Amino acid sequence: MIKVAKFGGSSVANAEQFKKVKDIILSDPARKFVVTSACGKESSEDHKVTDLLYLCEAHVRYGVSYEPLFSLVEDKYRKIKEDLGLKLDLEAEFQKIRSRMKKGMSVDYLVSRGEYLAALLLAEYLGYKFVDAADVIAFSYNGEIDMARTAELMSARLDAEGVVIPGFYGALPGGAIRVMSRGGSDITGSVIANIVGADVYENWTDVSGIYVADPRIVPHSVRVARVNYSELRALSYLGANVLHDDAVFPASSKSIPINIRNTNEPENRGTMILNDCSEMDKEEPPYTITGITGRKGFVGITLVKNHSTVEVGFIRRLLSVFEDHHVSIEYMPSMVDSYSIIVRAEAVANCLYDIVGWIRERIRPDALMVEEHISLIACVGRGMQKKPGLAGKLLSQLGAEDINVKIIELTSDELGIVFGIDDDRYEDAIRCIYDKFIAEEKKESRLI
Ligand code: ASP
Repeated sequence: MIKVAKFGGSSVANAEQFKKVKDIILSDPARKFVVTSACGKESSEDHKVTDLLYLCEAHVRYGVSYEPLFSLVEDKYRKIKEDLGLKLDLEAEFQKIRSRMKKGMSVDYLVSRGEYLAALLLAEYLGYKFVDAADVIAFSYNGEIDMARTAELMSARLDAEGVVIPGFYGALPGGAIRVMSRGGSDITGSVIANIVGADVYENWTDVSGIYVADPRIVPHSVRVARVNYSELRALSYLGANVLHDDAVFPASSKSIPINIRNTNEPENRGTMILNDCSEMDKEEPPYTITGITGRKGFVGITLVKNHSTVEVGFIRRLLSVFEDHHVSIEYMPSMVDSYSIIVRAEAVANCLYDIVGWIRERIRPDALMVEEHISLIACVGRGMQKKPGLAGKLLSQLGAEDINVKIIELTSDELGIVFGIDDDRYEDAIRCIYDKFIAEEKKESRLI
């Protein structure tokens, strides 16, 4: 059994968190490949090291003193080293970074140092070998990870006795450091899981997996025990934010399950993300709805154009207005001769009235309306497939709460229903769906 364990920033925020990480690693000999983020926030007033390093780089670039910022980073790592009684020559490491800052360095180099230092400390603390991500994670010039080259580099360095690798960065063919997008340590963990052929990729964070509904809205929400990749994609698209989007493919392409776990509650089994849940579902059937998620702040542009249904190319002309403004369309429910185009408010913040003007000019609609402050809510679940009456039950529940549904979308794979309501009823809608579908099923059954 091989496990890759990736620890997020909150799991390595201070010495106390390092101790929890060590207990987790020591409790299972399969956890030989460890990936770490940079130190995260210790409290809500604290700062993430990566944020501080991005700020430092901006100060260097504008010739403003970066001392107070960089000292915050140094102090954080110094304190962890002292509290854990480690020997690493941190001062020499800080010196190297400072001299690169003076000589001029790339932003990617500086912001990657958070992960680099955290991994050095963690490797010594665990008694594992430190492997620099710059030596094993290979990027191509187009910015994509070169999996073949990465596999080659890793096979020479990965030690079955245990290694710690910094997340979030790698190197370009010429050796320059290249970082991934924010939250990218999830990707490093997934790439390593793929290459070492892990049995499971554990992603340790500060929540015990994915919740059916956001616990800030439904505090007693149950955890999702298992979710498949299509459900995860549908849920994260509208808001559930547990894993970097690009972290799914390297693991899923080799059918490696991803297990979201909580460093502060290691006994909780968390959420398993699988290619296919059907075998496990036979033993423990899922809830009808796997997750309820959503987002506020959409705008709906609705137009009516008589006889457009028979006009070839009409929809293309309409959509080209959005394309020309570089605005991505989220949903497009339609009826005979009438079309609603739903976009994110921030995407049209500076061009909504231009878009409306262009539609008037290019399309000459018979009616045109703009509605702001729309929320979209998605109910996603493999358990929803082939369940007659489900959409009806959902809508009547919202109706009973006097929540007006403005938009409804249902795809033919029956994996989810998306509906649009007023922003100010968003929380009520999530609560009432949860109560109807999850709380009731939980009462009737055997589920967590
Ligand atoms: N430290 C990086 C960030 O804050 C990467 C990561 O934590 O995954 O985005």
